[in-house]
Amino acid sequence: MSDELQTETPGDNKDALKTVSADFLKTLYELDKKITEVKLDDVSLGPWSHSKLKTLEKCPLQFYLKYVMKAKLPPELAAEQDTSAADVGSAAHKILEHIFAGHEVPAAYALAKAEFVPEKLNEEQWQEKLVGVEMNIISFKDRIDSFRRRHKVKKIYQEVRIGVTKDWKRTTFFGKDVWMRGVIDFIVLLENGDILLIDWKYGPPAASGIRFYKQQLHSYAPLFHFGVTPIKGMTSGIGFIKDGEIILDEYKDEDDVSRKLKNEVEWNVDGAIERVKTDGKFSKTVGSQCTYCEFSPFCKSRTKGTNLKELEEGTKRFIPINPA
Ligand code: SF4
Repeated sequence: MSDELQTETPGDNKDALKTVSADFLKTLYELDKKITEVKLDDVSLGPWSHSKLKTLEKCPLQFYLKYVMKAKLPPELAAEQDTSAADVGSAAHKILEHIFAGHEVPAAYALAKAEFVPEKLNEEQWQEKLVGVEMNIISFKDRIDSFRRRHKVKKIYQEVRIGVTKDWKRTTFFGKDVWMRGVIDFIVLLENGDILLIDWKYGPPAASGIRFYKQQLHSYAPLFHFGVTPIKGMTSGIGFIKDGEIILDEYKDEDDVSRKLKNEVEWNVDGAIERVKTDGKFSKTVGSQCTYCEFSPFCKSRTKGTNLKELEEGTKRFIPINPA
């Protein structure tokens, strides 16, 4: 091959990425400068979802970058991020979705594979991560089939997109008046008005239990009750795909769902906003969340001016000084 026809070398690529990173950092600070006011209330910072609320709770700076500034990585940097864990999770969800839509397990696998391999996952990842959990997925199917035989099922919902307004009236997922939204993996609605709600998770171990996920499950109950159909009660849980276990939370009755859990959602949103006000800024908070944060390469930098510290400090301008 002649020199003219040779494509860029890894060294060239590294330099190109450095330039893109430097430009992106400049863009971030320019974007930040354009924001003169951030209203710290539950409507202005909405619409909410469970993951958006978790972001504000875990790292307010990430919330500011992602949801206030709406910063997006340039495609060159986005392509550098390892999305395989998320893609494995999505593929497993897809297999389950096909199964509970009525496909046999081999057909569900084939349909999902056609969607994910080779675009998002390679053959080796597919075999190890998805084929490797086939027995677990079959055991979920058996358990749900057995549940369906023992109860009068009215309807099954999968990947249901729900939106409610600030006063918990049904609206569309992207409606102008949407205040809280969510996508729920799997719900069995029974004739008696109860629901079984499952959120599938690929990675976490079942041994960790469901305590970390109760906030998510609890937020889905009023969302379904007010955004889809009123329910009499709910049993919810997590399906731990890698371990093949479903762990359920205790039963919640109608009052729990329509009053207590609804209030819990509102308190959690208000509490997260109050913590930002108390901190006096959108604080950079390092923790396990950094693993999945797209801004992590910048945040981690040890060089002054490139680690988003100044950007974080600048967010003090949005928070009124408390005279007390
Ligand atoms: S890398 Fe961590 S500390 Fe930095 S913005 Fe992201 S979540 Fe926050």
